[in-house]
Amino acid sequence: MQLKIYNSLTSEKEIFKPILDGNVGMYVCGPTVYSNVHLGNVRTFLSFDFIYRSLMHLGYKVRYVRNITDAGHLTDDGDVNNDRFVKQTRLEKLEPMEIVQKYTVDFHKVLDLFNLLPPNIEPTATGHIVEQIELTQKLIEKGFAYESNGSVYFDVLEYNRRGLNYGELSKRNIEELFANTRDLDGQGEKKNPQDFALWKKASPAHIMRWNSPWGEGFPGWHLECTAMSTKYLGETFDIHGGGMDLKFPHHECEIAQGKACNDTAPVNYWMHANMLTMNSQRMSKSTGNYILPMQLVTGENDFFEKPFHPSIVRFCFLQAHYRSVLDISNDAMIASEKGFIRLMEALKLLPSIQENYKSNKDVDLFNNLSPNALPFDVKSWVNKCYEALNDDFNSPILISYIFEAVNNIYKLNAVKSEIKILSIEDLELLEKTLNAFVFDVLGLQTIEESNNEKLDQTLNVLIELRNQARKSKNFELSDQIRDKLLAEGIELKDGRDGTTYVLN
Ligand SMILES: [Zn+2]
Repeated sequence: MQLKIYNSLTSEKEIFKPILDGNVGMYVCGPTVYSNVHLGNVRTFLSFDFIYRSLMHLGYKVRYVRNITDAGHLTDDGDVNNDRFVKQTRLEKLEPMEIVQKYTVDFHKVLDLFNLLPPNIEPTATGHIVEQIELTQKLIEKGFAYESNGSVYFDVLEYNRRGLNYGELSKRNIEELFANTRDLDGQGEKKNPQDFALWKKASPAHIMRWNSPWGEGFPGWHLECTAMSTKYLGETFDIHGGGMDLKFPHHECEIAQGKACNDTAPVNYWMHANMLTMNSQRMSKSTGNYILPMQLVTGENDFFEKPFHPSIVRFCFLQAHYRSVLDISNDAMIASEKGFIRLMEALKLLPSIQENYKSNKDVDLFNNLSPNALPFDVKSWVNKCYEALNDDFNSPILISYIFEAVNNIYKLNAVKSEIKILSIEDLELLEKTLNAFVFDVLGLQTIEESNNEKLDQTLNVLIELRNQARKSKNFELSDQIRDKLLAEGIELKDGRDGTTYVLN
C-alpha cells in the first residue's frame, strides 16, 4: 500500500516518495504569538498533528519542525505601523517578550489540552536573526534582492526574468498581481508593488530591532520560515504544511526565497489545511461569530448548550478531512459526543468478549450463527483502515470504518458468549488495530484517563485567565471565575506563591 498525498503545488494526489527512505522532514508554520490562539488555528495544528501521528504509525521516522513567530509580523498591507506586536504591546503595556511569553504559554496549554504532540523542534524567529540576515545577504549577492532606504526587498520581477515563476503555488499570474496591488508598504522604496520585505528598517517607535548590515531593523515574516526550515530540514525537504490562508503570499514567498537562494525547490509536497466555520459562517471577532478554544471546553459561550470534553472536540474536528471546510455547530458537537461515547464503550467491551471466548474454548467457531450476527472479516477491515489513512490521511473515512467495527463489537457482545463469530486471533487483531487508530493515530483519550491530567491543565488555564482579569482590574470576571468554580466544588486559594486549587 502506498501513501498518497495531495500536493497543493501540482493540485494532484501524488504517491509520497520521501527524500530519504523511511524518513520525513515536515515543517508547519506555527503561531504568531501576539494574542490567544484561535479555534481556526487549533484546527490547522490538529490536522497536522493527525498527519504527524499517521506518518509515525505508518513507520516513518519524522522530524517535525513548527516555528514560533515572535519577531514582529507585518500585516498583509505591510504597514510597519500595523506591526501586531507593537500594537499589542501598546495595548497591554508590556515588553514585547512578555507578550511573546504570555501567548506562547497559552498556545502550548491549548494544544496540550487537545492532546497535540509537541513538534521535534520549535524554533523561534528571534532565535534565528543571524540566519535571516545571512539569507538576505545571499539574496542580494545573487541579484534577487535590493536594499532601499535601510530595508531590503525581494525583486519579484527579477525572479521571473530568470525563468522562475512567482505565483506557481497560488496559481496567480504576475501581471495580474502587479495590476491589482496597491503600493501601501514602503512607498517609493520598492521597485514593484509585489516585491516583499526580507528586512525592514525599524522606525524610531519600533521596539523589537536588531543590528544588520543595513542598519537597525527586523526580519520580514516570510524569511523566518525559509531560514528555519532550511536550517533544520535542509534546502529541500519533504512536507511543508500550513493553513490555506498562508498559501499566498507567505508560502509563495517561501518558494521564491528558497529557489533564489539554493537553486532548488524548497519543498516536495505542499499541504494546506482548510478553514473552520461556526454555524456555517466564517469565524470573526468583528461579527461576533467567534469563540476561543477554551470556551468550547468550559462551556462559557453563547453558541453551545454545554461544555465539551477536549477529546470530543478533537473527535469532531477529525470527522472532516483536513482539506475540507470544517463547520462546527451545537448539533455537530452533540452528535460527536454521542459517537465518541459509543466508540469508547465499544472499546471497553472488547476485553470481556475476548475473556468469554477464551473461557469457552471447546465450542465450535461459527456454531449456531444467529442471522443478525454478520460475519465480520477483520483482516479486510484492517486493510480498509490503512487504505483510508494512506489516501491523503482521510480521517472521516477512517472514522467510518472504525464505526463499522464498533457496530460489530456491539453485535458480538449481544450474541451469546458461547457462539464464536470471530476467531481469538481476529478478535485480538481487531482490538490491537482499533486501539492503535483511536489512541495513537486519532489521538483520542478516554474521558476517565484524561480527566485528572486535563482537569489540572484546565484549572491552571482558568487560574491564569483569572490572574489576567485581576491584572487588568476586571474584578467582575475574576470573581465570576472564582465563584463559578466554587459552585462546581473547586476552591481557589490565593497564596504567596500564587493560586492553587482544592477539590471539595
Ligand atoms: Zn511560515
